[in-house]
Amino acid sequence: MITLENVSKSFGKNQVLKGIDLTVNKGEVVAILGPSGSGKTTLLRCINHLEKPNKGKIKIDNFQVDFSRASKAEILSLRQKTAMVFQQFNLFKNKTVVENVMEGLIVAKKLPKEEAFKKSVELLEKVGLGNKLNSYPVQLSGGQQQRVGIARALALNPEVILFDEPTSALDPELVGEVLSIIRTIAKEGITMIIVTHEMAFARDVANHVVFMDEGVIVEEGNPKEIFQYPKEERTIQFLKRFS
Ligand code: ADP
Repeated sequence: MITLENVSKSFGKNQVLKGIDLTVNKGEVVAILGPSGSGKTTLLRCINHLEKPNKGKIKIDNFQVDFSRASKAEILSLRQKTAMVFQQFNLFKNKTVVENVMEGLIVAKKLPKEEAFKKSVELLEKVGLGNKLNSYPVQLSGGQQQRVGIARALALNPEVILFDEPTSALDPELVGEVLSIIRTIAKEGITMIIVTHEMAFARDVANHVVFMDEGVIVEEGNPKEIFQYPKEERTIQFLKRFS
């Protein structure tokens, strides 16, 4: 349902992604693990084109873009199939919680305001923030802000939600509430790709685990294959740090 073929990205002379091939099936929850600097975030950003790959192809839901000759319109169409949840939440600070979720529905989905409001309220209730509709981000905890970020991503009804270390900016006591929401939506069959350092969470929630190092996928498989029976030395060494 999502395929990446030879996706490559350099920043100057630094080749950060060295020809990534990856297939993600519909409804899969993919956890991307790996040491800092291995290219995980860049890979996510290439999938929704916050970074432009130098070459390679990405196909989502039968719509393929070849980055060696992609038009802006094609790239925009591909991007609209994805939604991103950021490490630093990236909410509009001058908009209320409900307005943050409505924005994408009005601008990208062209919904009338009343409809956008109704849908946003439903989603905010789902993430446990029905009582914070008119608050501003600064009035919320980090965990609550991230839940707004998740509601905003869900509102776009994307083919895939991309989570970039969604709990790494949170105080430890707030991590659980965010992971629990992600766990809930994972059960609903939404395709998700999650860059995370939360090993226990990856083991429980993901059904496809990818280990990256130095811009390549070293090893991938189901959680049992990667966490219990890793084959590659680099994976074994990495996982040791968390045991
Ligand atoms: P990870 O998410 O695995 O920690 P990243 O994808 O963030 O890794 O980064 C991989 C490498 O790419 C790092 O060496 C980083 O410095 C470099 N990099 C990432 N983004 C940029 C950028 N916008 N400009 C230059 N170098 C970048």
